[in-house]
Amino acid sequence: MVPFLLALDEGTTSARAVLYDERGRRLAMESNPIDCMYPHPGWVEQNADQIWSAQLDAALRVLDRSGVRAGEVAAIGITNQRETTIVWERATGRPVAPAIVWQCRRTADYCTQLAAIRGSMITAKTGLVVDAYFSASKIRWILENVPGARKRAEDGDLLFGNVDTWLIWKLTDGGTHVTDPSNASRTMLMNLESGDWDDELLALFEAPRAMLPRIVPSSSVVAETAAGHLGAAVPIAGIAGDQQAALFGQTCFRPGLSKNTYGTGCFGLMHTGGHRPVSKNKLLATRAAQVSSPQFAVEGAVFIAGAAVQWLRDSLGLIATAAESEAVASSVPDAGGVYFVPAFVGLGAPHWDSSARGTITGLTRGASRAHIVRATLESIAYQTRELIEAMEADSGERLTELRVDGGATSNNFLMQFQADILGRRIVRPSDVETTALGTAYLAGLAAGVWKSLEELERFWQIDRAFEPHMSDPERNRLWEGWKTAVRKCRG
Ligand code: ADP
Repeated sequence: MVPFLLALDEGTTSARAVLYDERGRRLAMESNPIDCMYPHPGWVEQNADQIWSAQLDAALRVLDRSGVRAGEVAAIGITNQRETTIVWERATGRPVAPAIVWQCRRTADYCTQLAAIRGSMITAKTGLVVDAYFSASKIRWILENVPGARKRAEDGDLLFGNVDTWLIWKLTDGGTHVTDPSNASRTMLMNLESGDWDDELLALFEAPRAMLPRIVPSSSVVAETAAGHLGAAVPIAGIAGDQQAALFGQTCFRPGLSKNTYGTGCFGLMHTGGHRPVSKNKLLATRAAQVSSPQFAVEGAVFIAGAAVQWLRDSLGLIATAAESEAVASSVPDAGGVYFVPAFVGLGAPHWDSSARGTITGLTRGASRAHIVRATLESIAYQTRELIEAMEADSGERLTELRVDGGATSNNFLMQFQADILGRRIVRPSDVETTALGTAYLAGLAAGVWKSLEELERFWQIDRAFEPHMSDPERNRLWEGWKTAVRKCRG
């Protein structure tokens, strides 16, 4: 029998199902949109039952479309939007509240107060900066605000899960309540070092241990799906949060190997090996996907990357499509001294300045549309360099090459400029759906379809590599100009 692998990739905007063959080649993909609700300013919610039905439907469609029966699937891997919080009844599977999405700011005030008094303890234990993104304050909010919930949680009648845990619980008809270290490390309840729920944090956030899932390795057979859902019982054998799954899908298995995802924002992760990193540069320390022994990574985010290109298109009308930015930027030899710092919502790592605002500097009478478009693409590369430098400083590892994925990596100008301004090789793989691929790899390893990480490394294929061509003096001159522009945009 030819074994297939099925990846369930539940993101913030869609639930996707992707089918792979035993060589890690993508055969088919199906997706369903997920609705977001905004009941109050800053609040973001989703319907957990819709997440489940959208994900199950995508899985059934991808099997149907490829003519593959569930019995031919060797294993399922799950990857998910991280931090999003669901609390449901153990007995009925009914959620007691809407899912609170990672972006939701409803607990921001609480987190600000908490950061002032317990911030250093929390960061020391979890590797995270105290913020409303993470699950702990969201669980606390549900237990405080849903009538009777706290008592029921303490009695063991309610369960918590991120989306991975929820989907596995549904797929097993309530038989299995688990998560993996990469997801657990984003709850703000796990001790990053030990990989277990931390009693001091549980007490601080008033989260009863009885409602928490068991933490299992990211690559292990944890359960079988109840046969009714897909038509046969299929082993569930891979779990990882979306960014850690992408790191795995890029086969970044060794210290120093890094990936950057270029979407609305950028997410950069560097694998740092088997020891807990401590960031001195305001990055997050986190768990990477775990096959056997614990693995760690440092992570940083750029808030506005591709979103700045959307702004050129939708608000300024300077380009008709995002793709057009490539030709327009390439029509001039440089940005003519123009810098655009797209700090629309402040600056993320390594600055963490929420009062910074977007700024365009260096305008002269000769500045044209092309210079502004070019400066916008260049800003994505400069911000990425800031992340990479912070990662290198934290990890003590020097980056040899940067592996890239995400929608904006189709822009060859951006990729070449990224190589030039970093002074490193940029490598774009042929399959840029690295999130789904990563969890398929995790599942296939546990199910015995693949025997080793080395085997997976051989599957990774380059679409195109971009070598740095810029001279050192030119790179340094441009970089100094960027740093000056960033100083001007800060609050
Ligand atoms: P997300 O997963 O965050 O929704 P995607 O990975 O789908 O994002 O990438 C979409 C983003 O990439 C958009 O912000 C868009 O403006 C940008 N983008 C897409 N294609 C290009 C391109 N050719 N050049 C520059 N930016 C692009």
